[in-house]
Amino acid sequence: MNQTKILLDENEIPTHWYNVMADMPSPPAPPLGPDGKPVSPEMLGAIFPPAILEQEMSAERWIPIPDEIRQILCLWRPSPLYRAHRLEAALGTPARIYYKNEGVSPAGSHKPNTAVAQAYYNREAGIRRLTTETGAGQWGSSIALAGQMFGLEVRVYMVKVSYEQKPFRRSMMETWGAEVLASPTDTTRSGRQILAQDPDSPGSLGIAISEAVEEAASRPDTNYALGSVLNHVVLHQTIIGQEVKKQFEKAGDYPDAVFAPCGGGSNFGGVAFPFLADKAAGREVRLVAVEPTSCPTLTRGHYAYDFGDSVGLTPLMLMYTLGHDFVPPGIHAGGLRYHGDSPLVSQLHKEGLIEAVAVPQIATFDAGVQFARAEGIIPAPESCHAIRACIDEALRCKETGEAKTLFFNLSGHGHFDMSSYDKYFRGELEDYEYPEEAINAALDRLPKVG
Ligand SMILES: *Cc1c(COP(=O)(O)O)cnc(C)c1O
Repeated sequence: MNQTKILLDENEIPTHWYNVMADMPSPPAPPLGPDGKPVSPEMLGAIFPPAILEQEMSAERWIPIPDEIRQILCLWRPSPLYRAHRLEAALGTPARIYYKNEGVSPAGSHKPNTAVAQAYYNREAGIRRLTTETGAGQWGSSIALAGQMFGLEVRVYMVKVSYEQKPFRRSMMETWGAEVLASPTDTTRSGRQILAQDPDSPGSLGIAISEAVEEAASRPDTNYALGSVLNHVVLHQTIIGQEVKKQFEKAGDYPDAVFAPCGGGSNFGGVAFPFLADKAAGREVRLVAVEPTSCPTLTRGHYAYDFGDSVGLTPLMLMYTLGHDFVPPGIHAGGLRYHGDSPLVSQLHKEGLIEAVAVPQIATFDAGVQFARAEGIIPAPESCHAIRACIDEALRCKETGEAKTLFFNLSGHGHFDMSSYDKYFRGELEDYEYPEEAINAALDRLPKVG
């Protein structure tokens, strides 16, 4: 029999997170406050606990993972690495294809890896409540789960269009004890400001972030948790890439190319950054972030200082951005609709150490269905982006006859996304190329710095 799953033992869960900042060619650009000066930790202390802020700024290469966190991660980690024998056969490619299944977590994606860590550090700091935003519901579910495990109350501002389209994600969050509100709400100033302009606003991640941050900043017992983008979030996800490297060692193989879907960049960074260390040591490996053509942040966005939210409450971060007031088209990969990207991922892209490609929506579902029919697992629409790029590479290998080793991160399962699959099967999905004029227009509305 051919080995299909490459498994690690629980005691092989990494003991440290890998901090890519220690190995970056140039130091990351600091986040800036409203006065254009680097933000002080005190400013962020209103919404984040000290340990998280320390991780956000740390240049230490290895940061120890507290045992209590590893113990909870044991509920689903280490996650399996699969060799996709059946997909390879279906494609008729000489390439060897592997994928890591992060869909085995209780919430169904990679996001609980950081949710658990964030809830832990907030409880350690004496915080009682967390606020957050969620788009498709993946992050809200993850923080609801983690909050429950550490006895924290959780309030989730859920983008209104998803709140209406994804009632079962909401039920899931409520099962884990969270309170879920449809954003924009009239309970925050940010929400009321948006509703005054557009009473029927479908909401956006940027708007929901504004609401969650505003509430956390106004209550001393409440902090805010973010599911992607920030350095500490990417740091927590490096547990994935470290496991992948150990699993490849066990398999006696090593990837020529690594693909991961890229929204805010945490699962891509979490997978890719541990490989960057190898790259720095001279090993060849392509690291490819895959995004939608409808939200082409890394491939077509501006590299500039911009806000993380819509209203302008967050510090300014140097990143690829489509503009903080970007309202994404209603594509079905909700986790990939953010206007910006992790500053670490952005800088490494700017410096040419990682690559990015954009793929159109319908082609991603083609790939997801092909994958499901070969391997059985129904992938999240976000994950379908990485699958598309990986299959395209495998098909190129078929033409050239190269037996490359390809890897993608299966960031989540698609069990709550079946209505999107239905639309695909009915031929109701559309491809959408974000227009050049909109990208240029965003430039004029970027905050002026310096
Ligand atoms: C959120 C999400 C993503 C995007 O993750 P980032 O870390 O923000 O890039 C990808 N896949 C799934 C399944 C998700 O839930």
